[in-house]
Amino acid sequence: MVNTLKGKISLVYIGLVFLIAVVGFTGFFNLYRLEKTVNNLMTANYKSISALTNAFEAIERQDSAMLIYISVDRQKGINLFTQSSTNFLKWFSIEENNITELGESDIVEGINNNYGTFVKLFSELQEVRNTNGEDASVAFYDNKIMPIFNKLKLQLRNLININEKAMFNSKTLANNNTKRSMNMLLLLSGLTIIGGLVLSIYFIKIFLGPLQKLSNGISKIKGGELYHHLDINTNDETGKLAEEFNQMTKRLKNYEQSTLGSLMAEKNKTMAIVKSISSPMLVLDNNYRIVLINNACENYFSISEENVLGKHFLEAIRNGEIFDHISGTIENSHDHNEKIIKTVKSDDEENFYNVVVSTINDDEEQPISVIVTMQNVTELKELEKVKTDFIATISHEFKTPLTSIMMAASMLSEDGMGELNEVQKETVETIKEDGEKLSNLVSELLELSRIESGNAIYDFSPCSINLIVNESINNFISIAQKRDINLINELEIDLPLINADFEKIKWVMNNLISNALKYTNSGDFINIKSRIEKNYVFISVEDTGDGIPKEYIQKIFNKFVQVKGRDIEVRGTGLGLSVAKEIITSHKGKIWAESELDAGSIFTFSLPTIKREK
Ligand code: ADP
Repeated sequence: MVNTLKGKISLVYIGLVFLIAVVGFTGFFNLYRLEKTVNNLMTANYKSISALTNAFEAIERQDSAMLIYISVDRQKGINLFTQSSTNFLKWFSIEENNITELGESDIVEGINNNYGTFVKLFSELQEVRNTNGEDASVAFYDNKIMPIFNKLKLQLRNLININEKAMFNSKTLANNNTKRSMNMLLLLSGLTIIGGLVLSIYFIKIFLGPLQKLSNGISKIKGGELYHHLDINTNDETGKLAEEFNQMTKRLKNYEQSTLGSLMAEKNKTMAIVKSISSPMLVLDNNYRIVLINNACENYFSISEENVLGKHFLEAIRNGEIFDHISGTIENSHDHNEKIIKTVKSDDEENFYNVVVSTINDDEEQPISVIVTMQNVTELKELEKVKTDFIATISHEFKTPLTSIMMAASMLSEDGMGELNEVQKETVETIKEDGEKLSNLVSELLELSRIESGNAIYDFSPCSINLIVNESINNFISIAQKRDINLINELEIDLPLINADFEKIKWVMNNLISNALKYTNSGDFINIKSRIEKNYVFISVEDTGDGIPKEYIQKIFNKFVQVKGRDIEVRGTGLGLSVAKEIITSHKGKIWAESELDAGSIFTFSLPTIKREK
C-alpha cells in the first residue's frame, strides 16, 4: 500500500508509462509480423513463379529444337535442345529447392519423371529420323512427344498457378494482418487515452480533493471560523497535514475558550472594582458619550446608569467646567491631566474635586476612551487654606518687627549711634545678611500665600515672551560673566505672543536662571531655548551644572524642598519653584524638570499662545 503523495503520483505515472509501452510494443509486434508476411510473399512464391516461367520458356525452346531437328537442320536442332535443356534444369532446380506449398512436391516429382521421358524421346526421335526418314519422325513427334510435351506444360502451369494462388493468399493475409494491427492499435490507443484520462481525473480528484479541503479550511480560519474541522482520512502527507490542522484548531478553540473565560472573569472583576470605588468615576468614548459610570458617580450627580448610558456627557451631567477640562485634555493631546474644580451643591455645600482625566489611545495615539475620576480634596483644600492663612498671618506679623530690626541694624552700621569696634561691626553685618534672607523668605511666603489663596492680582495682557526672556537674561549677564559661566540665549526670534502677566512670568524666568547660576560652576553653560508645539510655546533653561538626584525631581516644586547637602551659602528659601509652579499653572501652563546628577538640569515651562492673525 503506497502511503505517500510522492508514491501515489509515481504510481500513476508508472501506470501511464506502462500503457504507452503496451501500445508501443503491440505496434512493433504487428509491424514485425507484417514485414514477415510480405517477405514470404516476395521470396518464396515470387522466386518459384519466376523460375517456373523461365523453365516453361526453356522447354518450349526444346520443343522448337525438335522441330528444327526434324525439318531444318539436325545439328542446329541438337545444339538448341542441349542448351535449352541446361537452362530448363537450372531454372527447374530453383523450384525444386523452393517447395513451399501443399501438393507442390508431387507435381515437381511428376515433372521430373515426364522430363526424363521427354529427353529420352528426343533420342528415339533421332533414331527414327535417321532410319525411317522425315515423315516417320514427324509422326513420332505427333504421337509420342507432343502428348508428353503438353503434359509437361500443363504441369508447369499448374505449379505456377499454385504459387500464384499462394502469393495471392499471402497478400490477403498481409492485408488482413495490416487491418488487424490497425484495429488493434486503434483500440489500444483509444483504451490508453481513456485509461490515461480516467487515471488522471481520478487521481487528480483523489490528490487535489483533500488539498482543496485544506485550502478551504485555512480560508475559513482566516474568516474567523476558528473551530473548523477537516474531514480528510488519507495516510499521505495531506492526511498528516489535515491532522496537524485539526490539532491546531482544537488548540485554538481551547485557547480561545480559556482566554475568553479569563477575559470575562477579568472584566467582571474590573467592573466590580470600578463600581465599588468610592470616588465618582465615569468612562466616555471618543465622542464624549457615556460608556460606564460607577455607583459613586450615580449618587454624586443624582443619575442612574441605565438612563445615561450612550448619552453625551453634557446631556447627562450638566457641568460645563468639568466638560471643558475633559475636552481641553483631549484637544491638547494630553494623556493625563488634573484640575481642582469647585462644585457647589444645591444646599450651598462647597466641595473641591481633583478631576483626573486619563485617555486610552489606539496604535496611532488617537484617544478611544476617556476615564474621568473625581477625588474629593475638600478637606485637603481646607487644611491648606488654614496653613496658608497661618503662614500669611505669621509672615505679616514678621514683616513689621523685621523691618524695625533691619532699620536698627542699618543705623548701627552707619555709625549714627556711636562707633563700633570690629567684632561689633561683624555682628551687625551678620544681623543684616540674615535679616535680608529672612525678609526675602517673608516676601516670598506672602507672595505664595497670596497666589494660593487666589488673592494674587494678575495683570493679563498680550506679551512678547522674547522680551520677557531677554530682559531676564540681561539681569544676570554680568553675574554670569563674573562667574565665568556661559549664559547663552538660543531663543527663536519672533515667538508668538502670550496672554500673561509680564512681571510674573519674568519673575519665573529670573528664578529659573538664578537657580541655574546657583547650581553651576565656572566654565559651565546655561542655554535658554524655545520650541512651539500646537498652541503652546515651550521655554527651557538648560544647565551643565550639579544636576538633581532622581528622588527630588518631582518634589522640588513643593514648598521648602531643597536638595540636601548643597552648599549652605547658595541655598535660597526653597520656595522659588513652588511660586513659579503656581504662576505658570495660573497661566494654564505646565512646568517640569529633567535632570541627571553631575550632568545638568533642564527646567521647562509651557504657556498657551495667542493665535496669530492670518
Ligand atoms: P531655592 O530657593 O532653594 O533655590 P527653589 O524652589 O528655587 O528653592 O529650588 C528648590 C531646590 O531645587 C533647590 O534648593 C535646589 O536644590 C534644587 N534646584 C533648583 N534648580 C536647580 C538647578 N538648576 N540645578 C540643580 N538643582 C536645582
